[in-house]
Amino acid sequence: MVPVSLIPIPLRIAVAECELSELLAYPQEQLAAIIKEVGFRCELCSRCCTRAFNGHVFLLDRDVAIAKEIDPESIEPAPYPEFCDQNGTFYVSGYALKATDDDCGSCYFLENNRCRIYGKRFSICRVYPYMLHREPDERGKVDWRQVAGLDEHGEYNTEIPESLCQEAAAETRDYETACIMQEISFLVFMQDYFSRNQVRHVQKIYDDRMRAFARSEEIRIMVFCDGRLEDHRIRSSR
Ligand code: SF4
Repeated sequence: MVPVSLIPIPLRIAVAECELSELLAYPQEQLAAIIKEVGFRCELCSRCCTRAFNGHVFLLDRDVAIAKEIDPESIEPAPYPEFCDQNGTFYVSGYALKATDDDCGSCYFLENNRCRIYGKRFSICRVYPYMLHREPDERGKVDWRQVAGLDEHGEYNTEIPESLCQEAAAETRDYETACIMQEISFLVFMQDYFSRNQVRHVQKIYDDRMRAFARSEEIRIMVFCDGRLEDHRIRSSR
């Protein structure tokens, strides 16, 4: 499979724009009906707030501002940088929440199995487990995915008021739209940045520097947030 960083940026922008139009054309009522039918209710197991269950918690730019205000130490550059230039500098879109070093990689804000900033929790935390994007299933068939971790947590077939289903559907669509728009902004910015600064993505340097990172060497990573790049030096904690 071709690494995503080797796909030409204009093509990636075109694909993302196409995804955005498909998302906007998806009827919100359809998602609300699925939410109603699934009838998911959180059982407060807190597993979804751990890396063992859910990987990284990515933040929208608007959430990064909130996280920085609550505790600037709570965030880190999102994993899987998209580009690395000939000088060994990585580029990634956005931040993720840090995890603690307990066995399951609990979220930085999880304490005694409860979110200690619940009233200010982030967009992804608010919409989870609902989602609305197209991705391949285990057989490679690309289709809409609407609910994450089905049958793996929580209770099902509970009664959810219609107004809450509509609200969750609207919020989910808003979140997915913001994600794609953030990705498009990043790609447009990088296209211009590469040409203005005479730098380019070099896959061999990317692979070499990722290996160095895995050996706990420091890497430089520029994080795209709010329309600009923020400079970081990081080491793997693994
Ligand atoms: S911020 Fe709160 S709700 Fe969101 S992942 Fe962390 S503990 Fe869970």
